[in-house]
Amino acid sequence: MSLTCNPHDTLPDALRKQLARCFDANALLLSPAQRLSYGYDNSRQFAMPAAVLLPHETAQVLELVRACRAHGIPIIARGRGTNTTGATVPLHGGVVVSFERMNRLLRMAPEDRLAVVEPGLLNGDLQQAAKPHALFWPPDPTSAAYSSVGGNIACNAGGPRAVKYGACRDNVLGLAAVTGAGDLIRCGGATSKAASGYDFTRFIVGSEGTLALIVEATLALRPLPDARRALRALYADVESAAAAVARLMAQAHTPSMLEFMDGECVRLAREIGGADIPAAGALLMIEADGDASTVDIAVAALERAACGPGL
Ligand SMILES: Cc1cc2nc3c(=O)[nH]c(=O)nc-3n(C[C@H](O)[C@H](O)[C@H](O)COP(=O)(O)OP(=O)(O)OC[C@H]3O[C@@H](n4cnc5c(N)ncnc54)[C@H](O)[C@@H]3O)c2cc1C
Repeated sequence: MSLTCNPHDTLPDALRKQLARCFDANALLLSPAQRLSYGYDNSRQFAMPAAVLLPHETAQVLELVRACRAHGIPIIARGRGTNTTGATVPLHGGVVVSFERMNRLLRMAPEDRLAVVEPGLLNGDLQQAAKPHALFWPPDPTSAAYSSVGGNIACNAGGPRAVKYGACRDNVLGLAAVTGAGDLIRCGGATSKAASGYDFTRFIVGSEGTLALIVEATLALRPLPDARRALRALYADVESAAAAVARLMAQAHTPSMLEFMDGECVRLAREIGGADIPAAGALLMIEADGDASTVDIAVAALERAACGPGL
């Protein structure tokens, strides 16, 4: 773990007093012991935040941004800290705002195939809530069970099924966000065609907390497929697997998952992970989804496309 010193690891006295007046001790963490666990993420880097805010509503986020802006103190958004890049580590000090308490599912609208959520809702909890309606939200990074929707959106997370359903940018209809100027903006809407005006929704998705703090998201849900069937194809080398990917994407049945492993990954999966797969120069995991009566047709088409030199 690396340690970083920064000029903003303590708050100016006036700001500290202002924040203490606005937020109770349950929401504003000031003691070193409380701040410590918000100084790192999955990157194993560490830098101590000057303060941590755990807001439970948008009004608190607005208040924080306006106060920090007046004092020139940076703010770092945090979902669940699962990113591996140090994106939530306050390397330049400042206040970490963790959205873990803004985790409500505000609206589930199966008839409109959408959900409105707060940013701290876990992706896995959203999927559980959508499932009884036979719906799902396509972005499914492998960290879905313990990463937040806000963090997913800020990273434009995808996951194995992005090949068919797209990443967050393709599955977010609208956002409410607090800008660095301390304004609440709303962009996008509840419809899949919102053609008027600038597309700020797509601009904010993937901006990793640098443009605005996401405080609400309207998400496009998709019908949960009846059936999923997976294939595993082993190739002599990476070139053969790459040629198979080109054949798979050139035919009509879009795979719902297409994951690639090179020979070294295959070796590690066998030798370290204990996976029961033969040695190979490359591997593709291919999945088809859809209606139970047609998924076999898609699988057969994918199987034909996967076959070729080097298989
Ligand atoms: C085991 C594992 C597997 C993964 N697999 C995939 C994968 O298959 N595909 C893929 O695309 N990604 C994958 N990821 C990365 C994944 O996308 C991120 O870990 C996840 O999206 C981050 O969510 P989080 O809640 O932990 O956010 P954090 O890590 O806390 O934050 C991530 C970024 O979002 C910003 N942020 C968080 N909340 C907000 C907010 N409300 N407003 C503005 N900015 C905000 C932060 O400032 C930071 O820049 C994987 C990660 C792990 C650990």
